[in-house]
Amino acid sequence: MDGKVFLQALRQITQEVASEPDLTKAMALLVQHIRRTTEADCCSLYLLDDFRKRYRLMASDGLAQSAVGKATLRADEGLVGVVGSTNEILNLADASSHPNFKYLPDVGEDEYLSFLGVPILNQGTTLGVLVIQSKIKQLFGEQEESFMVTLAAQIGSIIVSSKERNSVEDDVLRRVKGFASTGDVAIARALVWQPETSLDDIKVQTCDDAMMQVELFQQVMFQLQIEMDRATLKRQEGALDSSYVSGYSRMLDDATLQDEIVAAIEANNYLATAATKVVIERRIAEAQAQGRNDQAFDLKDLGQVIVSRLVHAYNRDVDVSEPVVLIMENIPSSMLTEMPGDKVVGLVATSQVASSHDSILARDFGIPAVLGANLNTADIDGHMVIVDGRNCEVILDPPESVIDEFKQLIAQSKEQMDLFARESGTAVTCLDGRHISIGLNAGLKQNSSEVVNASDNIGLFRTEIAFMLCQSFPSEQQQYDWYARLLEQFAPKPVCMRTLDVGSDKGLSYLPSKEANPALGWRGVRVTMDMPNILYTQLRAMLRAHQKYGNLELMIPMVSRLEEVLFVKKAIIEVANELRVKTGQEVTLPRFGVMIEVPSCIYLMDELSREVDFFSIGSNDLIQYLLAVDRSNPRVKRFFDCFHPSVVRCLHELCAKSDAMGKRITVCGESAGDPLSALLLLSLGYTSLSMNYSYIARIKYLLRRVNFSELRALGEQALTLTESAAIRALYEQYATQQGLGKIIALYQQDNGEPNAVHADTE
Ligand code: PEP
Ligand code: MG
Repeated sequence: MDGKVFLQALRQITQEVASEPDLTKAMALLVQHIRRTTEADCCSLYLLDDFRKRYRLMASDGLAQSAVGKATLRADEGLVGVVGSTNEILNLADASSHPNFKYLPDVGEDEYLSFLGVPILNQGTTLGVLVIQSKIKQLFGEQEESFMVTLAAQIGSIIVSSKERNSVEDDVLRRVKGFASTGDVAIARALVWQPETSLDDIKVQTCDDAMMQVELFQQVMFQLQIEMDRATLKRQEGALDSSYVSGYSRMLDDATLQDEIVAAIEANNYLATAATKVVIERRIAEAQAQGRNDQAFDLKDLGQVIVSRLVHAYNRDVDVSEPVVLIMENIPSSMLTEMPGDKVVGLVATSQVASSHDSILARDFGIPAVLGANLNTADIDGHMVIVDGRNCEVILDPPESVIDEFKQLIAQSKEQMDLFARESGTAVTCLDGRHISIGLNAGLKQNSSEVVNASDNIGLFRTEIAFMLCQSFPSEQQQYDWYARLLEQFAPKPVCMRTLDVGSDKGLSYLPSKEANPALGWRGVRVTMDMPNILYTQLRAMLRAHQKYGNLELMIPMVSRLEEVLFVKKAIIEVANELRVKTGQEVTLPRFGVMIEVPSCIYLMDELSREVDFFSIGSNDLIQYLLAVDRSNPRVKRFFDCFHPSVVRCLHELCAKSDAMGKRITVCGESAGDPLSALLLLSLGYTSLSMNYSYIARIKYLLRRVNFSELRALGEQALTLTESAAIRALYEQYATQQGLGKIIALYQQDNGEPNAVHADTE
C-alpha cells in the first residue's frame, strides 16, 4: 500500500462511514473497507460497553456473522483487552502465543495467526478496539500500522456522534448518553412534554362540530382547575412556594371568561383554540388600554396554557397520576407550576445545546436528571425509562432484569442517604473540634423545616432563578415578597442574596442578547450596572425586606474591577438612605460581599478587602475563567478540574489573603458539595462551604469524620505537587484511611464539571 492510496482510502472510509446514518451499517462498512484496503484476511470492531465493562464484537469482515453483536470479552480479557487497557497498538505475528490470548469458541478465529489491534479513543476515553488479522504468520508492516492508527484516531469522534444519533443499540439495552446529569436513578414511564404552543401562532379556524370543541375546552379547563387546586393544597402544606405560581391561576376562577370563549365557539363555529385566541386577545387589548399590564400578562399566560393543552391535550396513554420521567427539549422555568411536581421522578432534556440554566433548574428540582440526551421523542412517550444520573445516561425500555439491578441501586443509595440524614440536623465539627459552617445554596424549594434546619445559613440565593420564572422583570413588590419570605423563614440565620446574575447562558426570555462569546460578555454585575433601574429596584426590595427581618447579606456576581464594587456599594447606601427617609425608620446596612469568580480579583484582594465584609468563591466560574474551560461544554468537561495545581494554588492564596485581612471567605460553587473537593477545600484553609440542599447531609457526614489539622498538612503537600491526578490521589488515600473511601468513590464526579454532578442523591 503506497502513501497516496493510503490517504485516499482514509478519506473515502471516513466520509462514507460518517455519512451512513445507521450505526450498525456504518460499522459494517468500516470493517469491510479496512479489510480491503489493508489486504488483511479479517477486520473486526469491538466497542466497550461501559455499563457491563465488556468489549462486544460489533462488526466483522472475516469472523462468523452469527457472533456479531453477541460475542463479548471482559474489559481486561484477551488481546482486545490488552489494547484497550494499555491504549497501545499491539502487532503480533502469532496471536495465540501471547499470554493474554483468549480463545472464543464460535467466533471463527481459528484460521487467523497474526493480529494487529489499535485502540479507538475519543477525548481520552477508550471507545473500543479495531483489529485486523491475517492467515500468514508475520507482523503487519509499518504502512498498515500507520493506516490503522490514523484511521482509529478519526473514527472515534464519528462513532460517538453516530452513537448519539442512534442511541447505543445492543441486544440488551438501548442507552443514550447525555452531557450533564444530576441525582441518582429514577425508573418510570416517559412523558414527553410538548413545547408550548404560542397563542400568536394559532390560526382563527372554524369547524363542523362546535359541540365537541366546547366539550374539549371544558375538559381542559376542568383539568387545569384540578391541577391548580392540588397546587393550592401543596402550597398550604408548605411544599410549594406560592410566589412562583403564575398569575394565570387567578384567572381560572373567572367564569365570565370561560363563558365568553364557549359563546365564541358556538356563535362562530370556531375551533376551541381559535375562540380562546380571539377572546383572550380582546381581553388583553382591553386590559392594556386601561393600563393594567399585569393583568394583560396574566391573560396571555393563561391563553398560552389553554391553547397548549388544547393542542396537546395530555392526549397520552400515560396516566399522570403515576410517577413519570419528563422528557423535554429544554427545562422550562414555568414547569414548576405547570406540572404535577410530586409525580415527576426524573427529567431528561434532549436539547444538544448545553446551558447552565438547565443544569441549575434540574438540580433545583432535586430529582435525577440527564441533560443533552439525544432521544427521538416521537417514539418514547409512555415507554419505560431509567434516568441514570450517576452515569449520565438514559436507558430505554429496559428489561426486567436491568430494572431489578437499578432498583437495588436505588435501595442502597436510600440506605446511605438515611444514614447521612440521621445526623443532618446538627452543626459540623471535625474530629479535632474545628467547626465548619455549612450554608445552603437556596433554590426554588427551600421552605420546609428540614431545609431550614440543615444549614447554618443561606450562603447563596441565586435571585436570577426567580427572575427566570417570570415573563417580564418582576416588580419591586413581587421581589419584596420573595426576599421577605426567605429572610423570615431563615431568621435569625443570615441569608446571602446575590444581585441578579444573568447573561451568558443564564438568559432571561425578556432580556434577549446575542453575543459571539457570551461567557466573556455582558453578564453579572456588568448587566446590572448598565441597567441601574433594575439594580435599584432589586436593592430596594432587598433592603425593605432586610429592614423588617435584619438577616440579609448581599453580594455581587462576576466582579472583575474595583469600580463595580464601588458602584454597587454606593447604590446600596443611596437606597438605604432613601428608605430611611421614606419610612422614618433606621436601616442597618446589610453585610456586603463580592463573589470571586474572575481571576482578576486575585490581584485585587487588598483593595477589595477594604470595601467588603466577606468574599464568596464562585468556583464554577472561577475554574472556568482560570483554566479557560467552558463550564457547560461537554467536549472539554474533563479539563474542568478543581484539582488542577493552578486551581489549588489559587484557592489557597485567596483563603490565606482573606484570612490575613480578617474577612470571611466561603466557597459556594459546586466544588463545595463534592465530597473529594470538599476535603481539598478544608485542606486549603476553608471553613465555610455552601451547597445545594441535596449535598448537605453527605458532606456533613463526611466532614465529621475527618481531622482538620491533618487535612491542612495534606493541603501543604498538595501545594508542592504539579499534577492533578497526584493531588486527587492524596485526598482519595486520606478518605480511604478514614474509612470514607466508599462515599468518595460513590459520589466521585467524573471530572468535576460543575453542572454535571453525577453524585447528587436525593
Ligand atoms: C459559581 O460560579 O460558582 C456560582 C456559584 O455561580 P453560578 O453557578 O450561579 O454562576
Ligand atoms: Mg458564577
